[in-house]
Amino acid sequence: MTTAKKFLTETSSDDLAAWLRDKGEPAFRAKQIREWIFQKLVFSPDGMKNLPAKLRQALAEDFFFPSCSVAERAASGRDGVVKLRLALHDGESVELVVIPAQDRVTLCLSTQVGCPVGCRFCASGANGLVRNLHAGEMLEEFLAGCAEAGRKCDNIVFMGIGEGLLNFDELAKVLDTLTSPEGFSMSPRRITVSTSGYVPGIGKLAQLGKEFTLAVSLHAPDDATREKIIPDKLRYPIDEILEAADAYRDRSGRLYTLEYTLLAGINDSPEQAEALGRLALRHRAKINLIPYNETGSAFRRPRRDVIEEFEKAVAATGAAVTRRVERGAKSTAACGQLRARAERKKEF
Ligand code: SF4
Repeated sequence: MTTAKKFLTETSSDDLAAWLRDKGEPAFRAKQIREWIFQKLVFSPDGMKNLPAKLRQALAEDFFFPSCSVAERAASGRDGVVKLRLALHDGESVELVVIPAQDRVTLCLSTQVGCPVGCRFCASGANGLVRNLHAGEMLEEFLAGCAEAGRKCDNIVFMGIGEGLLNFDELAKVLDTLTSPEGFSMSPRRITVSTSGYVPGIGKLAQLGKEFTLAVSLHAPDDATREKIIPDKLRYPIDEILEAADAYRDRSGRLYTLEYTLLAGINDSPEQAEALGRLALRHRAKINLIPYNETGSAFRRPRRDVIEEFEKAVAATGAAVTRRVERGAKSTAACGQLRARAERKKEF
């Protein structure tokens, strides 16, 4: 997608200074504008109170800021988790989730509109990729999440809609802005990049040389089982994925996580639990079990006792295993479901 208008959140200081010069505005306005965005988390020129009205109007005319708006909000009264569907400037939409805990707020952000990987259990990948998100749009997801939380969020997980490593250049810009002192000054350790196992992307992430946390969605301890879950097109052999993840670990000094969505009758047997535990031990990886949230696909969530037995069998191998805490905005908790519902409405 080409667009003449730029996203303000991804505009560099130099480009902003050049734009201000063109408008006959003093150079110090660039610092003011960037302070509003990156320190005060303001989400539109209207909120930049120390700028003249004429300049605010020019910003609104020449830049996307905001480029999106909250189209839908699904809140879980019990645990405070809120899922937002953001309407983008071209009529598409993505989701983000705000997850509060006692002492921190985590945001789960999307990287693409739709997803080309097409994991068979996932609502987000059901209709393939529509387009990549721009860095500016992902940064606005962050700002929208902070606005919802009422404060700067502490942790980010790129585990929403999309395979972020297939949108690497834009994701790399976002990671840079999130962690740079001129940007949002976050610690890389507080940012998790999730991948379905896109090997070239894991290599590129390692080359950034930062301590981001890597989460690999493995979902199976062997390739034959994984074939049932992830289509051929973008699926890499487990050996290659873990070799790339090991290289990432060695470069970043950070242990990685194996995400494992538990699907009844597919990957939830005691033998598979043991194989998973052994694989994780060999690669010094942690395991995060995610009991499936049913989305209308053919897959089913395992029974509670099966989930518990699976976790025990993994732990018995000596591998570090956790189970994702069951939280989420009620019936639309699984990734991509608000967007999928909105897309269905568009069809009528
Ligand atoms: S689970 Fe993730 S990688 Fe797989 S289709 Fe869904 S969004 Fe894409």
